[in-house]
Amino acid sequence: MSNIEDLWELQVHYNNLKNIKDNLKYIINGEKIKKIGIKLEKTEKKLIDLENRIEENEEKLDKNNSILKNYDYELKEIEKNLYSENITDLKQLNFLDKERKNIIKEIDNKETEIISQMSNMEELKKEFIRIQEEFNKLRKKYTKTVKDDKLMVEDFNKKVIEEKNEIDVTSSKIDKSVLDKFNELIKNKDVAVVEVIDNKCSGCNMFLPSNIIYKLENNDGIIHCDNCDRILYLKI
Ligand SMILES: [Zn+2]
Repeated sequence: MSNIEDLWELQVHYNNLKNIKDNLKYIINGEKIKKIGIKLEKTEKKLIDLENRIEENEEKLDKNNSILKNYDYELKEIEKNLYSENITDLKQLNFLDKERKNIIKEIDNKETEIISQMSNMEELKKEFIRIQEEFNKLRKKYTKTVKDDKLMVEDFNKKVIEEKNEIDVTSSKIDKSVLDKFNELIKNKDVAVVEVIDNKCSGCNMFLPSNIIYKLENNDGIIHCDNCDRILYLKI
């Protein structure tokens, strides 16, 4: 006579097998890797953008520095003329003095602009280092996930073989007609043996009559749910 415990054990192996296959499917789909890949791409774009901004800023700084240099030269020239005592014409002296003041003002403005560009540059470089660290971490995570997934697939494949062996061993303990019915239920309803929880069939949620519960409690043969036909198992 077939034992309900053997049937339950067989069902547990089928459940394990289904879990392993679901996990395998998830890994093979590469969902986790895809998510990291998207993040990696976004981070790389940020890095490229920052690099461009740093370059632009550097060009502006170079340009402003050379403008400043020209102003310094002009100022020197004006001052040379102004203090050379060669020019005695008051009008011209006034004009030169006015020019001198203008250029000092321009220098002042340029210097302020350069200082702000330099501090901006410092911020951009800090941000670049931060994003670069993030990028490196993500790249490591990506490589590790690829490796881990490969190992997990190997491990799950081993477990699939183990569970299939267990299914064969347990099946051999069960009478053919009972096993045929079990396999038919697996084929049609995915699950053949279901637990009775709170006097209900956990396959279809129907309340079970008390005579069925009594039979289950007394381990009186293999009992099917009247509603869904699955084999009932009561953990005692
Ligand atoms: Zn049922």
